Amino acid sequence: MEYSDNYYVRTKSYKVNTNRLTESLQCDVCIIGGGLSGISTAYYLNKINPNLKIIVLEKNKIGWGASGRNGGQLLHDFSGNFSSQKHSNDEQKQLWNFTIDAVREVKKNIKDLNIECGLIEGYLQAAVTRSHDEELKKYVDLLNNKFKYNSASYLSNQEMKDYFQSPYYKSAMYDSECGQIHPLNYCLGLAKELSKQNNCKIYEDSTVESYESNNQVKVKLNNGSTVTADKMILCCNAYIGNLNKELRRKIMPVKTYVSAFTNIPKEELNKFFKKQITVGDMLFVLNYFRLDKDDNLIFGGGVSYSNVDPVNLEESLKKSVRKILPGLEKYKAWCTWSGHVAITVNRLPHIGAIDNNILFAQGYSGHGLAITTMVGKMLAKVISSQDSSFELFRKFEHQNFPGFGVIDTPLLVLAMSYFKLKDLLSFK
Ligand SMILES: Cc1cc2nc3c(=O)[nH]c(=O)nc-3n(C[C@H](O)[C@H](O)[C@H](O)COP(=O)(O)OP(=O)(O)OC[C@H]3O[C@@H](n4cnc5c(N)ncnc54)[C@H](O)[C@@H]3O)c2cc1C
Repeated sequence: MEYSDNYYVRTKSYKVNTNRLTESLQCDVCIIGGGLSGISTAYYLNKINPNLKIIVLEKNKIGWGASGRNGGQLLHDFSGNFSSQKHSNDEQKQLWNFTIDAVREVKKNIKDLNIECGLIEGYLQAAVTRSHDEELKKYVDLLNNKFKYNSASYLSNQEMKDYFQSPYYKSAMYDSECGQIHPLNYCLGLAKELSKQNNCKIYEDSTVESYESNNQVKVKLNNGSTVTADKMILCCNAYIGNLNKELRRKIMPVKTYVSAFTNIPKEELNKFFKKQITVGDMLFVLNYFRLDKDDNLIFGGGVSYSNVDPVNLEESLKKSVRKILPGLEKYKAWCTWSGHVAITVNRLPHIGAIDNNILFAQGYSGHGLAITTMVGKMLAKVISSQDSSFELFRKFEHQNFPGFGVIDTPLLVLAMSYFKLKDLLSFK
């Protein structure tokens, strides 16, 4: 399948030459899924051992899934609360460091490989309600004191105005390390580097239908081709379908929406944005937006747990634009698109091993742009030898979603509506 239309596809700067797999091959490691998890894993595997024969199989195009449609917010931390899990204080610190290392590693790759992807540092996490404001103060305190992370600071409403102002927000956390990138260009930039290596092959339009695992893994494509590999890594995320039913039961694919506004005059933008910056708020169904390097407004928000789209996506996002950036809703979006986020019950990534030959990573719960790079690095190290971070992720307790991953249950839709309602009722 071709890329679905979106801002990133219209503005992509890289083309990676790939083919469809039409023969049967052997390799050391076969990666299923050509999003940021799969491409990063292949990139680091090749760096660690350039002799490994690596094959990436992508059903559609590189970055076709969430990796090429997201909000472009390069963030640390996880979507869920990892301190409520079974980790010791020291392990919690390691998990936190993993996420900030992820942001730094993405920036290192951009610099080392000279990837043109509009990196801009600076992120505001904005409080909508008084209780968010209290939460934010505690969060900054936790980062500064428990995790010894000093790139985040609390900003009062007045202080926030040096970066951004909106009648909708009370205060914010400013983080100087987080920021934004053009996610598809980053993904394609990594893939392009990979495609220069003789030992790595990326195949697009190559759908894996099933696999069998004994001493080796035999991967079968829907056109009859096969790949036999010593190891396999499943990086299919929200699009895994029936390829592995156990993994599918641990995630719920949820739709979210993004609009790109490319014709808002600078003086209108300047009423809100003092600089090009990334903003996300603290609502359960959050709004996330940024002013990019070309002064385009990329505005994301809304979710559909039932996967039924609003009748008019652009108009439905504009309800939030009107509240946060009043006046800007009168401008027409250049394009509006949707994508599937894979959420887990605890909103923590689901990463582990199925057997000695098969690893997997999925379920970043809308917070995967930065961490996928670091997860790829970790999986590559695990395949090559061992990596201690891997055990930390395996300790997260993941529950199945009800409905066996087949019916994404009306009960869940109801439960999520409760949280949406809580957002509405919590305004003080
Ligand atoms: C609209 C949207 C906004 C988001 N905003 C942000 C954000 O601002 N910041 C942030 O940190 N995160 C964000 N996210 C989440 C982030 O994009 C994801 O966590 C991340 O891209 C996951 O990467 P991935 O490689 O694991 O999955 P994907 O990018 O979804 O890749 C999975 C790939 O597997 C392929 N595949 C599936 N099954 C098969 C098969 N059988 N055979 C071959 N290939 C297969 C698919 O075609 C797909 O390309 C957002 C997500 C969405 C959808």
